[in-house]
Amino acid sequence: MTKRFDLAGRVAIVTGGSRGIGRALALGLAEHGAAIVVNYQVTASRAHAVVGEIAAMGGRALAVQADVSSEADATRLVEETVAAFGKVDILVNNAGIIRPGPIDDFTLADWRSTMAVNLDGVFLMCRAAGAHMIRQRRGSIVTVGSMSGLIVNWPFRHTAYNVSKAGVHMLTKGLATEWAEHNIRVNAVAPGYIRTELTEEVLREHPEVVRDHWARGAVQNRIGEPEELVGAVVYLASDAASFTTGEIMTIDGGLTLR
Ligand code: NDP
Repeated sequence: MTKRFDLAGRVAIVTGGSRGIGRALALGLAEHGAAIVVNYQVTASRAHAVVGEIAAMGGRALAVQADVSSEADATRLVEETVAAFGKVDILVNNAGIIRPGPIDDFTLADWRSTMAVNLDGVFLMCRAAGAHMIRQRRGSIVTVGSMSGLIVNWPFRHTAYNVSKAGVHMLTKGLATEWAEHNIRVNAVAPGYIRTELTEEVLREHPEVVRDHWARGAVQNRIGEPEELVGAVVYLASDAASFTTGEIMTIDGGLTLR
């Protein structure tokens, strides 16, 4: 069975691989043998550090700057991957942002930037990588959605983010259906609260919310760490998941159970 999780010879793009969940996923996929393109938007030094960590474990990796919400950048990111490694087998759509705030004074600019990165970015990356996967008649796409695409978080309000993640889940199901004939599987993970820079301000400034809502809301009574998502993403990316497509795998310590 271990062989079916083996990613040796595969090429993976991880968007937003410079830190947080993306970094953990890039390292985890590399540990299973994949060559990795570590995408970042602005933090070049951190993306290069991840490349260094992969090289230190004997893997192959490349850092590529690209804004996933730009059509030209998404196309270039896939082209640079193919130029460097010859193909793209795995796409992990991880890049994402959150613009918190109640809808009544939410700006159109914040709404649009949320959708541009979280939803347009996934569409653009899937279309660009999908073109190569369709030609090679093989591919696996794993998108980092969110429990926020399934439930409404409380007490903090970030409906725009939730809408973008619900959209990503349906995009996953739609693409799984459209691309099954090309031997491309499309799945998502829907994490609960995870300790990263995205959540660090709340962790620091509102420990009572973390304790009473984020942790206590989960049946495991805690938040998660980025590394706790790696197993699921490696599984979904690999041949071990050959009969799994269109799945939204919730990984939230049981937060959405009740
Ligand atoms: P971080 O804020 O720690 O990291 C975000 C990553 O996305 C960085 O690598 C950043 O690059 C990259 N990024 C942001 N915008 C763009 C863009 N336009 N183009 C390319 N890359 C971009 O976030 P997390 O690790 O916490 O989150 C990763 C994903 O997981 C997101 O999709 C998020 O919505 C999702 N998620 C997170 C949860 C959590 O509790 N943390 C829970 C559920 C889902 P750079 O370093 O260059 O800025």
